[in-house]
Amino acid sequence: MAAHYQASLSGVFRRRLRAIVGERGLLSARADRTVYECDGYTLERSVPELVVLPETTEQVAGVVRAAAQAGVPFVPRGAGTGLSGGCLPAPAPLMVCVSRMRRIRALNLANRRAVVEAGVVNAAVSRAVQAAGLQYVPDPSSQNACTIGGNVAENSGGPHTLKYGVTTNHLLGVELVLPDGEVMELGDAIEDTLGYDLTGVACGSEGTFGIVTAATLRLEPLPEGVTTMLAVFETVADATTTVSRIIASGIVPAALEMMDRTIVEAVEAAYHFGFPTDAGAILIVEIDGPAAGLPALAARVTEICRASGARSVRIAADEAERAALWKSRKRAFGAVGRLAPSYCTQDGVVPRTRLPEILARIEEIGARHRLRIGNVFHAGDGNIHPIILYDERDRDQVVRVLEAGREILAACVALGGSVTGEHGIGVEKMRELGLLFGGDDLALMRRVRAVFDPAGRANPGKIFPTPGGCVEQRAPRRQAAV
Ligand SMILES: Cc1cc2nc3c(=O)[nH]c(=O)nc-3n(C[C@H](O)[C@H](O)[C@H](O)COP(=O)(O)OP(=O)(O)OC[C@H]3O[C@@H](n4cnc5c(N)ncnc54)[C@H](O)[C@@H]3O)c2cc1C
Repeated sequence: MAAHYQASLSGVFRRRLRAIVGERGLLSARADRTVYECDGYTLERSVPELVVLPETTEQVAGVVRAAAQAGVPFVPRGAGTGLSGGCLPAPAPLMVCVSRMRRIRALNLANRRAVVEAGVVNAAVSRAVQAAGLQYVPDPSSQNACTIGGNVAENSGGPHTLKYGVTTNHLLGVELVLPDGEVMELGDAIEDTLGYDLTGVACGSEGTFGIVTAATLRLEPLPEGVTTMLAVFETVADATTTVSRIIASGIVPAALEMMDRTIVEAVEAAYHFGFPTDAGAILIVEIDGPAAGLPALAARVTEICRASGARSVRIAADEAERAALWKSRKRAFGAVGRLAPSYCTQDGVVPRTRLPEILARIEEIGARHRLRIGNVFHAGDGNIHPIILYDERDRDQVVRVLEAGREILAACVALGGSVTGEHGIGVEKMRELGLLFGGDDLALMRRVRAVFDPAGRANPGKIFPTPGGCVEQRAPRRQAAV
């Protein structure tokens, strides 16, 4: 892998990039670049030396080729909503942000396919095909901002992942600009392709294979009927036990989400949906399919919830109420700003039957580190998102947040789970990767990466631990932790 880049970007290099993307596509003033200093993981920041905003694949290829010739590492970026520091600039001085590549290139409704550029916002895909009775299913809660390129890089999920799968299950092909500037097409729009599934390999590679410039997506028909329910529980344990009971009964809801009291209080204060703020936890259960079958399914879900201790179960009366319910859930992170000046969202997974145990562990870890932790997560997948509240100006709190985060992830692994459900490794969890993989596994992963990026210039300093690397020593997070 390439050594970390030390020199400043030369004037010649800058002029070359300006010739490719134009004045409008280049941000060099400090104030403009500062916006790009971090993503949603704010514990580490570094301002890129230069940001380019290409508008076409040719421009991306030109920029990357120029970077290759100058030996400059680069970091790809979409909307910057990532939660693991995946597009933290350091140690790459050049940021390539594809958010201006927003064209939907082709809609093939008969074959249920869409070809979209990497900067297209997730929710825009479903909006574009809704009138034809279709949707793009993976729906991260950030879907009104995050890009398809970012979704591909992180293999993102969302509330409806439980029944329909994550990004890789809806991704048929990728246009990828390799770190030497070659434009490569992976996959195909047809169902079964020959050879290695390179699209699958590239999905989730967190920008370390190059820059995704377009993706071919599978579209799904909108379900004939949808019923959304709100079940209210006295305790988190009752709510999480209900999650596995619903699935064990043979029902696979389209979505099964949980919010605990801390989050419900914040969400209610912000959006006034009518959530009970004295409840221990609430579940949002959505079932979909042929309309005729939904009342019986809803009755069965209600029965299971009540048998597991639900205080009440309410069915959204109409589309407006359903939309309001989802809006509150999907904006939950935004409401957390009411609780503390800073927060850090953890992301782990456990087998869903272990949810009661991991939630109890999270509570214990929070109490021991004197930190308030709220929980809002895709419960049906066993994918937890403890939100650790703190004040980043207080170094002691930062240290405790980091330690608590590590303990939560270690607890996930001890319960048979993993250190990330959907937010990726980025810089945040490089160390935790070692909890799951040994040296041989990591070496093999590095070799796969090297097939695409032999010089290690695409998003360096992410995913793989680099002991002794200069970023590790500089990073405030890791400084605080030692
Ligand atoms: C409020 C909130 C809710 C969220 N909810 C969810 C959720 O429900 N499910 C979920 O999975 N995630 C969720 N996320 C995390 C985040 O939105 C996703 O990871 C999303 O896919 C990131 O997209 P982005 O365009 O913002 O990517 P960025 O943050 O810009 O980048 C993320 C990573 O992808 C790489 N990358 C970006 N674009 C490209 C490209 N074109 N080519 C190659 N690499 C690229 C970057 O280098 C970086 O490593 C949430 C985040 C927030 C803030």
